[in-house]
Amino acid sequence: MERIKGRLGFGCMRLPLNEGDVDIPAFCDMVDLFMESGFNYFDTAHGYIDEKSEGAVRRALCERYPREAFVLTDKLTGSYFKCREDILPFFESQLQECGVDYFDFYLMHSQNKSSYEHFKRCGAYEVAGELKASGKVRHIGISFHDTAEVLAEILDEQPQIEIVQLQVNYLDYDSPSVQSRLCLEECKRRGIPVIVMEPVKGGRLASLPEEAQALLDKAKMGSAASAAIRFAAGCDGVAVVLSGMGSIDMVRDNARAISDFKALDEGEQKTLERVRKMLEAESLIGCTNCRYCVKGCPAGIKIPDLISCYNKTKLGDWCGKYYYERHTDGAPKPDDCIGCGACEDICPQGLDIRRILLDIHNMYDNEADESDDGTRNNKATDLDKETDGNDASISEGLEDKADGILYAVQNTLLGERESLYSDIPATMESPDGFRRIVKHMTRRNLALKFINNPKILLTIIGITMAIIVLISLFTG
Ligand code: SF4
Ligand code: SF4
Repeated sequence: MERIKGRLGFGCMRLPLNEGDVDIPAFCDMVDLFMESGFNYFDTAHGYIDEKSEGAVRRALCERYPREAFVLTDKLTGSYFKCREDILPFFESQLQECGVDYFDFYLMHSQNKSSYEHFKRCGAYEVAGELKASGKVRHIGISFHDTAEVLAEILDEQPQIEIVQLQVNYLDYDSPSVQSRLCLEECKRRGIPVIVMEPVKGGRLASLPEEAQALLDKAKMGSAASAAIRFAAGCDGVAVVLSGMGSIDMVRDNARAISDFKALDEGEQKTLERVRKMLEAESLIGCTNCRYCVKGCPAGIKIPDLISCYNKTKLGDWCGKYYYERHTDGAPKPDDCIGCGACEDICPQGLDIRRILLDIHNMYDNEADESDDGTRNNKATDLDKETDGNDASISEGLEDKADGILYAVQNTLLGERESLYSDIPATMESPDGFRRIVKHMTRRNLALKFINNPKILLTIIGITMAIIVLISLFTG
């Protein structure tokens, strides 16, 4: 911890882009300004920016500054390993991609109740301990998204955790799902320093509705982002506030907010409280654009982009509909959702994504679904029934049989699973996740795609023939 300079960290998940790639010259300028401003903490992960973040960090930071000049955090992400043997090669590839021979902090990424089970099952914490002993990792930590109770359980079981990365911002501070305040208290009680992530909630608190910004202006609190960062930095036990900066102006603004850091006074706290109430009244969807859900969506829906359009439209911004049309032009729409739930399993914000997609569909597409005779032709309404009544429509006995068959298919095809579902994150690797996706695929006639795979078809034909032979043997 002593090597960290200042309380602002550079989150490398929203770097400036140029034609789809990280704009390295712009990123170099941002790194230089950040370092000149007296900060040195950088945070990356393999999956950030479609796996381009680590390489960009190497080029803009690690190849341009001596190793002792910066502190670098990388993460072990659950979707990149399926067993213990996968972890070391993955870790070595991260070192290589970043161009360093050690990480200052190595975090078990996005821990929650279910991902923690995956990490434990694969011995990830033991491997992290070995990496620390070898000097390739200086400190072990976690980034965390779940309740304070789950956090306490993990910290009890893994005493080697030295740092915790938590989502803290004034909108989520007392939210029942994020529980920032309770999680902060849990860390403080154990003397574990906290790195704050999402202080501006994926940009949502950086750009406020006019009325809310007017409140900040009246209180002379500066930009919306700097007010949010000051709130997070002022919380007890916070060592560093990460900001996912995407432009040199953001670096300048964030650096100023922390360099001249003054904790919010009582009047400013009250102003933020009023802003929070205004934002809650708008009931915007709290997506942070982390994009974890995108990669594993079998329907290929650009979930965060559609949510962003929806939020814009809710704020009365005409371009919400315009961008919705751009994002769905020749691309999957909300009603292409097959209801598998993979996105909800992985969403750190705990969003009810299937329900949200239905709302988005109703906002933008419902008119188009009126057929000529006025009757509805609405796939999303079918989804509504599925997600609402979900399994109630299937009698228990039938469901049990279906589950049995699906388990049999799962076991038979275990070797095939990776190639079939290579883009589905680790959370879907549990029998329950696998079963749900197959069940929903079946309901949505996507079973046809499943059956069309020659390897699967041959396996099913083989099993059927074996059963027929056995039956004919027994019946003489
Ligand atoms: S439920 Fe499945 S298909 Fe629907 S958006 Fe989520 S991941 Fe995609
Ligand atoms: S919906 Fe959830 S997982 Fe997807 S980008 Fe938003 S916050 Fe991240």
